[in-house]
Amino acid sequence: MSQEDANPPSLYVAREPVFPRRVKGTFRTLKWWLLAVMLGIYYITPWLRWDRGPNLPDQAVLIDMSGRRFFFFMIEIWPHEFYFIAGLLIMAGLGLFLFTSAAGRVWCGYACPQTVWTDLFILVERWVEGDRNARIRLHRQPWNWEKLLKNGIKWWIWLLIGLATGGAWVFYFTDAPTLLRDLVTFQAHPAAYITMLILTFTTFFFGGFAREQICIYACPWPRIQAAMMDEDTLTIGYRDWRGEPRGKQTVEGNGDCIDCMACVNVCPMGIDIRDGQQLACITCGLCIDACNDVMDRIGKPRDLIGYLALTDETRERAGQPAKSVWAHVFRVRTILYTVLWGGVGVGLIVALFLRSPIDVSVTPVRNPTYVTLSDGSIRNAYDLRLRNMQGADAQFTLAVTSEAFVTMALEGQEGLTVTVPANETMQQRVYLTAQPDSEAATEDRSDVRIWVEELGTTNRIHHDTVFNGKED
Ligand code: SF4
Ligand code: SF4
Repeated sequence: MSQEDANPPSLYVAREPVFPRRVKGTFRTLKWWLLAVMLGIYYITPWLRWDRGPNLPDQAVLIDMSGRRFFFFMIEIWPHEFYFIAGLLIMAGLGLFLFTSAAGRVWCGYACPQTVWTDLFILVERWVEGDRNARIRLHRQPWNWEKLLKNGIKWWIWLLIGLATGGAWVFYFTDAPTLLRDLVTFQAHPAAYITMLILTFTTFFFGGFAREQICIYACPWPRIQAAMMDEDTLTIGYRDWRGEPRGKQTVEGNGDCIDCMACVNVCPMGIDIRDGQQLACITCGLCIDACNDVMDRIGKPRDLIGYLALTDETRERAGQPAKSVWAHVFRVRTILYTVLWGGVGVGLIVALFLRSPIDVSVTPVRNPTYVTLSDGSIRNAYDLRLRNMQGADAQFTLAVTSEAFVTMALEGQEGLTVTVPANETMQQRVYLTAQPDSEAATEDRSDVRIWVEELGTTNRIHHDTVFNGKED
């Protein structure tokens, strides 16, 4: 047995820390703006108010777990309307498909929370420790007072950001001003503190230490999105036919790349895009900014690195101009995604306007399926959940229709009318009875339709169920 077989080389390679250098340019500016807008939306939204009348919370966006309701400005989603949430999730998925097929991992590069919070953490790191070279120096030097102090300040600010992140999250689940008061007076529910602690730690760890490793190893999205990309998808590419052979501009025959490593040094993923398209590239565009700056300084055309599709690469190598951005964006695949996305969106809007402010769900009581009364009549019981999704109490009148004759009675009520309080769900037991020897009493099963009508309005809904007769 050889020495190598006895001691096979380790397949583990320790992570090389990444110290992205500061860069200025179009894509960096765009990323700063998006970061400010997205963090602003995240932190401010729970504090926005929306007047819904006296019986409902006035928080504009609220996931009301105790009331089992989701409030989004003027829209109120009840548990039985979960299809709206499902529709929104489908739209989010189709939106991701659309953006990925048009421009690769743009979600990852510009809008993913992991990217946004990591950008913020790197900003703090740079502010406390300095730019790339200073950070590398600090990282390599042994622990001393300077290193302790700078890391201590940095970690402290990261923790505060993590705390604000976890804090903002819990505000989405209950009235924000009330919860803030309860939190600072230590009267909030333990679940709020535990959630905040978990999110503080995960934000601190993911944004501070795990960073690009989450994107490369933990996130499934890079693997999935490869299926949505094709040769016309815009990704970040290096024009090696223009840049190579890289090296000093004073050497005749060299390409435009002066091998300055600026594109590598700014990359938050720590990769060299000149090696070709890579799974780790989040298409953030920072290497484009860095290289364009270099090209400006050495008087060469911009876009040695740029948004580029594989088809463009082929065309440019053949001396033809690249296709326009619009030709990449408007393709059969992207148009199909847009149509699907729009279709689901229109469907949701139509459903929102057509939905009834009252609702009923019917659960037949099946233990027993029927009872025989003293006069021989057959009786079935049903539990109705009557929902009044309006700001005022409403009177609901119940009725039943069926080809087989059955009568209706309500448990604990004189007639067939009940009052359902505003924004409440009321449970009501209902009895349907068939006369002895009637068709409904003797048939195994008869279809019945239970109607609910709101008095004084045109709101009318129904629910179909079955009436069980004698089985013999
Ligand atoms: S290679 Fe360029 S676009 Fe890709 S992650 Fe690095 S800096 Fe961003
Ligand atoms: S920034 Fe541009 S010139 Fe410098 S190494 Fe990268 S590709 Fe070459």
